Amino acid sequence: MTESPPPAPGGSTVGDPSRVEQRRLLRTEIPGPRSLEYAGRRAAAVSAGVSTMLPVYVVRAGGGILVDVDGNQLIDFGSGIAVTGVGNSAPEVVTRVREQLDAFTHTCFMVTPYPGYVEVCEALNRLTPGDHEKRSALFTSGAEAVENAVKIARYTTGRQAVVVLDHAFHGRTNLTMAMTAKNMPYKDGFGPFAGDVHRVPTSYPFREPAPITGQEAAARAISVITSQVGADRAAALVVEPIQGEGGFVVPAPGFLPTLAAWCSEHGVLLVADEIQTGFARTGTMFACEHEGVVPDLITTAKGIAGGLPLAAVTGRAELMDTVHPGGLGGTYGGNPLACAAALGAMTVIERDDLAAAARRIEATVLPRLHALAERCPSIGDVRGRGAMLAVELVVPGTTVPDPVGTGRISAACHRAGLVTLTCGSYGNVLRLLPPLVIPDHLLAEGLDILEEAFAG
Ligand SMILES: *Cc1c(COP(=O)(O)O)cnc(C)c1O
Repeated sequence: MTESPPPAPGGSTVGDPSRVEQRRLLRTEIPGPRSLEYAGRRAAAVSAGVSTMLPVYVVRAGGGILVDVDGNQLIDFGSGIAVTGVGNSAPEVVTRVREQLDAFTHTCFMVTPYPGYVEVCEALNRLTPGDHEKRSALFTSGAEAVENAVKIARYTTGRQAVVVLDHAFHGRTNLTMAMTAKNMPYKDGFGPFAGDVHRVPTSYPFREPAPITGQEAAARAISVITSQVGADRAAALVVEPIQGEGGFVVPAPGFLPTLAAWCSEHGVLLVADEIQTGFARTGTMFACEHEGVVPDLITTAKGIAGGLPLAAVTGRAELMDTVHPGGLGGTYGGNPLACAAALGAMTVIERDDLAAAARRIEATVLPRLHALAERCPSIGDVRGRGAMLAVELVVPGTTVPDPVGTGRISAACHRAGLVTLTCGSYGNVLRLLPPLVIPDHLLAEGLDILEEAFAG
């Protein structure tokens, strides 16, 4: 049996420690026998097209710990892909959802509305960048929010072309597959894709053949838009301020502001896809704020509601209010339970200043990753912001991606009871997305495990 050392006195009170003890505990191999039993049943019942990073079957979770069916307690550096920033058992989320559940579960906002939807939109309008008049609309998944942002952009500009970046990820529906860059596994065999979507170069400092500034990288993208799309044909430029699935790519400073200025000059709507970066994840409420960029439209999901399915488009009132009634919506969009959860999650994020918590996580993790990179020639790059941090693995001395080595490190972490995720266009990025409420001792212990995985 492997256990965490006992937590330091005074630590470990975030999340809801009464629900899940904040310590790592391995009772079996990972995955254990009962998880393997479920894996067998899963193979007979669940489509093989749905993949799983780490097949431990979870029965409880909270703070920085996931508890599986074998009684193992794993440290969570994934947050269910940047979703449970407030943890899995934030009392504000649990209580509000429970109260809502007792009241009613669904009426459909398009049939008979309810206060929670309005309150979530008010909060989004207040929290998103820019002090202009805003409106929001709620949806169920991130891809759906991106689709609707494109609908709004096309409708309000009267233009049709959509511009996206290399290494982008925007979802798995037909339009968003077209917007997503990576073929395998997202697109392969699923075409034909939606038309009039155009990809232009991004800013990926580690992979530039020669160093260029953010302004130069933006000029490169703009030149492709101008020559291959036509500035007056482009409805929207959709960007992730830090690219998520594409490899936690932080653009060079100046890239986003230069693109934003060009968009506004040419009547192209700037859509910030903050589905992964939003809600304090990167150390500010939204990642655009790091460079003072104010998008016309912003898409959110993931961290918005502590794990309940909710997504949103927030944008300039004059754009959001132009679309005819009934043009936007969906049966489940802004479900009452999800709205209750979002109000709880946003309360926690603001009241407990989780943006500062994300900055503290960065201050703890980044120096250790840099020190690790000094010792490990397989680490080509260390990057990220706040609690969205990554290492990119390469063949030592080159920039040649090493997806196999990345998988090996990740698997070693999993065996030691640390949930890690990989990403990147080349599958060679190990990404760290701990809950923003993870106790310090679990963060430190997770990093110990990661370092051991590299040493082993
Ligand atoms: C996850 C993600 C999406 C898609 O969200 P789903 O809820 O999976 O549809 C879109 N954009 C970005 C940046 C994401 O990280």
